[in-house]
Amino acid sequence: MEAIAGNRISVREVGLRDGLQSIATIMPSAVKLDWCGREFAAGVSDIEVGSFVPPKLLPQMADTAEIVAGARKLPGLTVSVLVPNLKGAERAVAANAMKLNYAMSVSEGHNWSNVRRTVADSVADFGQIVALCRQIDRSERPVVSGGLATSFGCTIEGEVDESRVLRLAVELAELGAQEIVLADTVGYGNPAAVRRLFGAVRRELGDLPLAAHFHDTRGLGLANVVAALDVGVTRFDASLGGLGGCPYAPGATGNIVMEDLVFLLESMGYSTSVDLAALIEVRAFVQERLERESFYGGIAKAGLPKHYRPVLAGG
Ligand code: ZN
Repeated sequence: MEAIAGNRISVREVGLRDGLQSIATIMPSAVKLDWCGREFAAGVSDIEVGSFVPPKLLPQMADTAEIVAGARKLPGLTVSVLVPNLKGAERAVAANAMKLNYAMSVSEGHNWSNVRRTVADSVADFGQIVALCRQIDRSERPVVSGGLATSFGCTIEGEVDESRVLRLAVELAELGAQEIVLADTVGYGNPAAVRRLFGAVRRELGDLPLAAHFHDTRGLGLANVVAALDVGVTRFDASLGGLGGCPYAPGATGNIVMEDLVFLLESMGYSTSVDLAALIEVRAFVQERLERESFYGGIAKAGLPKHYRPVLAGG
């Protein structure tokens, strides 16, 4: 197992994007910002607050610029947004987002259904996004992350060739990605595949930060996290209460559950800087405002073990 510097693991909330985009309820902007503020206060310092996709496609995300502006008033919070193309990146830059999470799919079918372009065109788009950001003064320049959806399989094409994922990860890194995210968008991944694929990307890309975006669609989300930790992944996406779902599987669970992820990591000796008791209160706050949606996870239901103590960073 590779050592993780200072035992520090970064957990990022994606429920405001991945969660809210997959449910019918449209959350009012003021509630989104309240959620951001509360979760930041609980110690989550990276929140994907929305996405810059056409509002006609995702009305839930129509207020993303406003949420970015509000969230940027929280000092120390990394305010990130998902962008699917150059146009989205332009809107994200105009809105003053601190981090652009570019997302494209590895499989042609999934990429086409999402963004109506070939994988090669999406790679080219990413190059233009990096160029756009490099025109911005260093002090204001957003971080650009390169995300590969359907890295562990695709609902349209089934199996996804691992060498293809590796090649695309290298291409995005060469174009200037400051982080590579492998996403198990549809919950097809398993710990062996996670170890193999992230391990291969790690060997190819050296110290470039790697992030994992797992869904718990088939119950393997946290097992996949443990496998990713084994090969040096230090950043994990999750959503409070596992909010969200899978557009191809009605009733399926969504992202891995943030509270359970924090519990897993802290129990294993990694520091997340998150106050888990406070996080469970934020979950209750969000759940009250989304009464018709399903919330998942074990820790919020069962409570913390009596001997639970958070890990201190650097220990
Ligand atoms: Zn997702």
